[in-house]
Amino acid sequence: MASSTRVDLDGNPIKPLTICMIGAGGFIGSHLCEKLMSETPHKVLAVDVYNDKIKHLLEPSTLPFADRISFHRINIKHDSRLEGLIKMADLTINLAAICTPADYNTRPLDTIYSNFIDALPVVKYCSENGKRLIHFSTCEVYGKTIGCFLPKDSPLRQDPSYFVLKEDESPCIFGPIDKQRWSYACAKQLIERLVYAEGAENGLEFTIVRPFNWIGPRMDFIPGIDGPSEGVPRVLACFSNNLLRREPLKLVDGGESQRTFIYIKDAIEAVLLMIENPGRANGHIFNVGNPNNEVTVRQLAEMMTKVYSKVSGESELETPTVDVSSQEFYGTGYDDSDKRIPDMTIINKQLGWNPKTSLWDLLESTLTYQHRTYAEAIKQAILKPVAS
Ligand code: NAD
Ligand code: UDP
Repeated sequence: MASSTRVDLDGNPIKPLTICMIGAGGFIGSHLCEKLMSETPHKVLAVDVYNDKIKHLLEPSTLPFADRISFHRINIKHDSRLEGLIKMADLTINLAAICTPADYNTRPLDTIYSNFIDALPVVKYCSENGKRLIHFSTCEVYGKTIGCFLPKDSPLRQDPSYFVLKEDESPCIFGPIDKQRWSYACAKQLIERLVYAEGAENGLEFTIVRPFNWIGPRMDFIPGIDGPSEGVPRVLACFSNNLLRREPLKLVDGGESQRTFIYIKDAIEAVLLMIENPGRANGHIFNVGNPNNEVTVRQLAEMMTKVYSKVSGESELETPTVDVSSQEFYGTGYDDSDKRIPDMTIINKQLGWNPKTSLWDLLESTLTYQHRTYAEAIKQAILKPVAS
């Protein structure tokens, strides 16, 4: 229920805001819209080219928040209505991006345009109109860790200063240009630098968010069900798809890369704190992740297999995983981040925020959702005779 007596972290009343949310129809946007509608009095001007993931918030005019959310089908590449919406809002949140690794090396131009060029007008309109901006970047701007260049048996590899990623200290380490995987990270890094420079030279009030593998319901798509059959989503949806179809989970290059996964609902709490505490969030770059949930991709596959068996009641496959080369899976130009542990000092100090949900628990609720949402559709798709 929306409350009119919300207070910020310093005890001051929070006035209702109008938020222009670009990319509101995506995974993160849909959860943020839900949170804003159910727990705050803020208004959302939801901008996207799709709205399937927020339809449940838009359709029934009887919903208690119907007058606080409106959908604007706008492609920010070329639509003059964008500036008007940014002017109407107190705050703009930019989530729009191409952000699936399978696209970075196969559609590098689209990736660079989407993550850098298309974001330019958003930054410009915010700066020129004196509007606050929360811009979504990525943990991938850190690239590889310093530690991965040390010999495999070096004891320094265990030293956190060689792998923990800190907003104000860590370098950004990308591979060579022909490893087009880094087109995304590089475009995101440049837009971060531009936002930062607008802050420094023109007084733009900004916050930059670096998500570390946020996962949960509604992430990406299941190929052949609500997305293209040949599409390659991010790892949660790839592995969910394999589990739903009772196929082995594909481990790219042995599944040795490490990731820290955070439950989307924990991460959204952090974003809400940024929205409602501008004095503490402005001018900062925040890592948002869960350093306690680190696994290799192989361990993720093993855990998802167990959790899925528990929530679906189906037995585990005899051969739950299969190795596949990155060349075969992603094509030429793929490369990988070896390890991603977020340092939490800054977000903890500024916003007092910490993640809560364990990897097992977040997988249990997410895979329950995947099973409920897709199992029947997959069964039907498998049964459907192939047209001759
Ligand atoms: P998503 O793909 O689900 O959402 C992005 C949304 O932006 C989509 O709904 C898409 O239709 C929209 N969009 C893209 N181009 C657009 C355009 N030209 N005009 C209008 N709308 C457009 O992705 P997400 O996971 O919700 O990610 C949101 C942001 O967070 C992105 O900037 C991404 O780079 C960043 N991020 C997310 C994660 C994560 O863990 N989910 C990790 C790192 C960074
Ligand atoms: N990955 C994998 N099998 C898959 C999909 C992804 O082994 O079916 C690996 C991928 O190579 C990467 C990790 O899982 O090492 C995470 O991939 P994701 O697509 O979620 O994005 P990233 O974390 O690299 O941005």
